[in-house]
Amino acid sequence: MNFFKQTTLIGIGLIGSSIARALKKKHLCKKICIFSRTSQTLNKAKKFKLGNFYTNNLFESVKNSDLIIICTPISSYKNILEKISKHIIPGAILTDVGSVKSHVVKIFSRFQNKGFHIIPGHPVAGTEKSGPDSGYAELFEKRWCILTPVKKTNKKALIKMKKFWINLGSKVHIMKPEDHDKILSLTSHVPHLISYSIVASALNINSKEKSQVIKFSAGGFRDFTRITSSDPTMWKDIFLSNKKNLLQTLKEFEKSLNLIKILIKKNKSEKLYSIFSKTKKIRRLIEKEKQD
Ligand code: NAP
Repeated sequence: MNFFKQTTLIGIGLIGSSIARALKKKHLCKKICIFSRTSQTLNKAKKFKLGNFYTNNLFESVKNSDLIIICTPISSYKNILEKISKHIIPGAILTDVGSVKSHVVKIFSRFQNKGFHIIPGHPVAGTEKSGPDSGYAELFEKRWCILTPVKKTNKKALIKMKKFWINLGSKVHIMKPEDHDKILSLTSHVPHLISYSIVASALNINSKEKSQVIKFSAGGFRDFTRITSSDPTMWKDIFLSNKKNLLQTLKEFEKSLNLIKILIKKNKSEKLYSIFSKTKKIRRLIEKEKQD
């Protein structure tokens, strides 16, 4: 089943290459055009046979495509849109996979009414790995993909985009961009920020202690280092473009951190037990939703 005749993937890292692999595996697109700015990444994409056409020229990459998916860090969007918007064919769909949505909608809205449809999106699927080597076709299976249409979004185009992600194996949820950013600040952005803070605290200790932290890194610290090995540009962009929600959610986190600190100081064993029993239940709920 071909939803789109020609898909352009702008950026072919973890997410872009996973989309390419899934499109090929499921025969969902006749022609895949791949843009990457460096020849090193383009050559890897060629080696893995991820597409049918490869270029480091943005204008060339979108020529005649009826679906364009931006799969690069959010700070690169403005420059990309300025270069491609005049060359997108009427009726085509322009979407993205960025992890923050209000900021992206704001950037996209400057390029509205140019004859193509804008449907921002976010597949809530990923790993800490980057680059075309790390993608895989099954990345989106049973994972949510959130679409955040803008006011003037064409209904037919939205349905087409929804079917596209369902065919990649995802479950689709349509949401307001501001709701997306609030929820994701709690489920993804603040947990990453806390991980960065914990691992960064090991940067300030002396070298003897540091080598012991590495040697005896128990499950907890090791798990945080997995998260903080993610691409630094991507996470710096996410934090800066979802600043308002991030700072608000951090306030809530600080409240619960302070409460736990006080309970420990005062030896409030039962209250600590009660909080930890409730948090254990949240894990069960995630498992029940098959999102673990
Ligand atoms: P990635 O593996 O690091 O790949 C990034 C791609 O973007 C590469 O092709 C890179 O090209 C290109 N790129 C980087 N900076 C650029 C710039 N300034 N201009 C043009 N191209 C640039 O990243 P990813 O993990 O696939 O993430 C891509 C997007 O997906 C991000 O917006 C992120 O928020 C979103 N996302 C990520 C995850 C995740 O878990 N990783 C999950 C959901 C959504 P070169 O290699 O040629 O420089």
